[in-house]
Amino acid sequence: MIGHCVHSYVLVKSLVGLGDHLGAARMLVRVAGSISRFPKHVVPILTSTVIECQRAGLKKTAFEYASMLMRPEYRSQVSDKYRKKIELMVRKPDRGEEPQERLASCPFCQLPGPEGELQCISCQNTIPFDIATGNRMTLQDWCECPGCHLPCSSQAFLAILSAEGRCPMCNEAVSMQEVRQMKDPLASYNQQGQAAAACMGSAGAAVPTRPVVALPPPSSS
Ligand SMILES: [Zn+2]
Ligand SMILES: [Zn+2]
Repeated sequence: MIGHCVHSYVLVKSLVGLGDHLGAARMLVRVAGSISRFPKHVVPILTSTVIECQRAGLKKTAFEYASMLMRPEYRSQVSDKYRKKIELMVRKPDRGEEPQERLASCPFCQLPGPEGELQCISCQNTIPFDIATGNRMTLQDWCECPGCHLPCSSQAFLAILSAEGRCPMCNEAVSMQEVRQMKDPLASYNQQGQAAAACMGSAGAAVPTRPVVALPPPSSS
């Protein structure tokens, strides 16, 4: 699943750019959940997670990661800009209810599950990762990037293309007209599954060296 983690992290920048702070926060929570795989990036990833969760109203989760950041081994590495704000969050926690994750049907067995959960708890299949949202693919809206042939939902992919002009995963310039709905997505996904999996392992494996989130000024939320 390391490919998914890296891709989730890469996607954060595009989601923040589109103002989708909830989507960005959920991707960062996924990455933060495997933080031991990013030993050189712990503090920037956790800082971004706290900030985006706070902006998205995931206050309880923001508090959890803020507490982690205030441990002695990380605290001194937190940028001065954010340390005070994060300290305050830990001292005066706001642990209100968080919005429930939306449900989406599994493309293999049709049973609904949280849209960000890539393993179906019913049929146990690994559900393809939507490169435009980071969530599970659904049969209702299944396209692919003409460059890397990884699956994506059209609405979200078109939104990224209109903002950036490029696929967030392979970085190819893609015109909106090239994006087409797939007629029988599972059949062609199974054929291409091997190639796509190999692509996830190699092309996607480079971890960005800088934090991908342009953090807002501390006063903005
Ligand atoms: Zn299933
Ligand atoms: Zn692509």
